[in-house]
Amino acid sequence: MTVISGAHELLDTEVYVDLRDLLGTPLYLKCEGFNFAGSVKMRPAVWMVAAAQRDGVLHAGSTLIESSSGNLGVALAVVAAAKGLRFVCVTDPKCNPSTARLIRALGAEVITVDEPDAEGSYLAARKEYVRRKCAEDPSYVWLNQYENPANWISHYENTAAHIAKRFPALDTLFIGTGTGGTLMGCARYFREHRPAVRIIGVDTEGSVNFSGTPGPRHIPGLGASTLMPLIDEALLDEVVRVPETEAVGMCRRLASKGLLFGGSTGTVVSAAARWLGGRGLGPSHIAVAIAPDLGERYIDSIYHDAWVAEHYGRAPLELLEQL
Ligand code: PMP
Repeated sequence: MTVISGAHELLDTEVYVDLRDLLGTPLYLKCEGFNFAGSVKMRPAVWMVAAAQRDGVLHAGSTLIESSSGNLGVALAVVAAAKGLRFVCVTDPKCNPSTARLIRALGAEVITVDEPDAEGSYLAARKEYVRRKCAEDPSYVWLNQYENPANWISHYENTAAHIAKRFPALDTLFIGTGTGGTLMGCARYFREHRPAVRIIGVDTEGSVNFSGTPGPRHIPGLGASTLMPLIDEALLDEVVRVPETEAVGMCRRLASKGLLFGGSTGTVVSAAARWLGGRGLGPSHIAVAIAPDLGERYIDSIYHDAWVAEHYGRAPLELLEQL
């Protein structure tokens, strides 16, 4: 039995789905959606707030402010509510409207920055808004998930340590990349403690992480339009890039078995299936992939045929009919 007295205390729920029947190759999918924020961003939210409190930057009269298009915003709203702090989430029109409603339901304020910067980047415009607010009012505290070491340290100390404990014979770990917090925390942990474990970074096509070519992307959470400062590619064994259409197909395959996951999980599982399948590794190969969130927040996008047709054309839907 797990008993908690604050919503932010539920972190690693230790749920893994063995996907060998679906994929024909063993893969343990670590599910990060079973906490009060519904995602992998609960840990960085908890760690970054704790670090700011410890450093004396954040106190009772402070207002947290952060740029997020989704899951970190929800996680910080949970942590702020649990700790009695004010929180302002700065987002843009690409943010899922139901995510914004979720953040408001948790008592936080949502500010939508309507215009991208001169180069067309909403992220840059959001960061500029946050900087301006902090300059105008010193009670605002920006945690800055893109550069804050507590982002990756949370995964080093918690996510990676849990995986290492449960899988003493782990061979390969697949991790999706947004800010790079999950990936770098896990990569650093295994490089230091179990260097033989292969670390595979997963990115989406159209993202510039790992010197990819910029292109249109519609699945939130994974990928970036500007270089992410936390990422150090030298700590990885390989990078696998997955087209979004393939990720949508994998999400639908998982859903057909009752496993409703978010878009980045489809991306990571696709990458793992391709990588493991291509090597013909036997059942003794132990592989784990991290599923950052669940699928309910994507009901109107990747699980909605009209949305899929609008963003990728009819071809992926025709492929899906053959599943
Ligand atoms: N998937 C989803 C759904 C996410 O919200 C995030 C966080 N942006 C990621 C993957 C990537 O996590 P990280 O920021 O740790 O790279």
